Amino acid sequence: MALNKAGHTLHEFALIRALQRRFARPESALIRGIGDDAAVIATAPKQWWHLTTDLLAEGVHFDLHTASAESVGYRAAMANLSDIAAMGAVPRYLLVSLAVPKALKAEAIYQLYEGLMKASRLHGVTLIGGDTSASKSGLFLSITLIGTTRAGRALFRSGAQVGDHIYVTGTLGDSLAGLQLLTGGKANPSARQKFASLRKSHRHFLVDRHLHPTARIAEGRWLNASRLATAAIDLSDGLSGDVRHICEESRVGAELDLSTIPVSMPCRAYAHAYRLDPIQLALTGGEDYELLFTVSQKNQAAVERQARARGYRITCIGIIRPNRVGVQIKFGDGKMQPLPMTSYEHFR
Ligand code: ADP
Ligand code: MG
Repeated sequence: MALNKAGHTLHEFALIRALQRRFARPESALIRGIGDDAAVIATAPKQWWHLTTDLLAEGVHFDLHTASAESVGYRAAMANLSDIAAMGAVPRYLLVSLAVPKALKAEAIYQLYEGLMKASRLHGVTLIGGDTSASKSGLFLSITLIGTTRAGRALFRSGAQVGDHIYVTGTLGDSLAGLQLLTGGKANPSARQKFASLRKSHRHFLVDRHLHPTARIAEGRWLNASRLATAAIDLSDGLSGDVRHICEESRVGAELDLSTIPVSMPCRAYAHAYRLDPIQLALTGGEDYELLFTVSQKNQAAVERQARARGYRITCIGIIRPNRVGVQIKFGDGKMQPLPMTSYEHFR
C-alpha cells in the first residue's frame, strides 16, 4: 500500500524503515522489535502483564482541523498510558496500527508519530510494532500498550469498600474547558468578547491540558506499590461517569462532596467568563486523565503525608457508601441528591 505525499508516493516499507530508524531502541527484555513478523519479549517470572488498546477514528475521536497530528498522537498515547497508570503498572511496549487516507500527507504521519513517541519517551515506552493500511474514509489509529507489575500486585476497579475515602489527583474540568476554547471559544462576537476577557496564560494552560494531558504514571505506581489504594480508575469519561464504574465493579455506593472537587484557577476563570458552573465542568468533563482512587480510613493520614512528601496533588472528594445508597452528591449547603445519570445541567 502507499501513502501519498503531494504527488509523491511513500511506501509502507519506507514508513516502517523510517520508524525503525527513528524510534527503535534496544531494551533488555526485547528480543525482536520492528522488522520481523512479530515482536518478541522475554517475560520475567512473577510478573503480571497489563494490556490495553484503543481505537481512534477521525471525526469521532479527533479532528485534524482543530488539532495537529502531533497532538492527536500525543493524546492517543497518553490515553493508553493513563489506563496503565490506573492499574498501577509500569508502561513498557507500544504497538501502533494505522489506516491512512490517500489525501493525508506523509508528513502528518510522521508528526503523529512524533506526538506518540514524545509521550512514550516520557515514560520509557518502546515502540515494538504495528500495522499499516490504506483507508477510504479518514484516518484510523489503534494503539496497544503493554505494562507490567509484580505478580499479585495491581489496582483494580473492584476493591472499594464501604467507608473508604475517595480521592482524585490534580484538577478536573481543564480538558473540557480547553476543548471548548478550541472549538467554540471565538464562535461569535459575544464568545470573542469572553475569550478576550480571559487571561492569555489561563487560556494556554487549559488548551494545553486538552492537547497535552498528563498520565499519572508515577502516582499510580506509588499507590500500587505502597498498597495505600483499595481501588483505582482513570478519569477518561468524566468524574460522574467514572465514579459509577468504580461503584459498579466494587458493588458499593458513593457520596461526592461537590464543595471539595479540585478546580484549577484557569478553569474557574474560564467558567466565570463564559457563565458556566465550574463544578459542572469538573463532573462532566472527560479526558482529564487524572486518577480516582479509594483509600481506607486507616490509611488516610499515610496517603496524604506521602503525597505531600512526593509533591503529588491529591484531594479527598467523598466517601464510599453502601450499594443501596447509589451515587449521591452533596452541595455546599449540605443538601444531598442522587447524581443524575446524564448531565448535571438538569437540576441547576
Ligand atoms: P506483516 O506483513 O507481517 O504484517 P509488515 O510489513 O506489516 O509485516 O510489518 C513489518 C514490521 O513493521 C513489523 O515489525 C511490524 O510490527 C512493523 N510495523 C508495520 N506497520 C507499523 C506501524 N504503523 N507502526 C509501527 N510498526 C509497524
Ligand atoms: Mg502488516
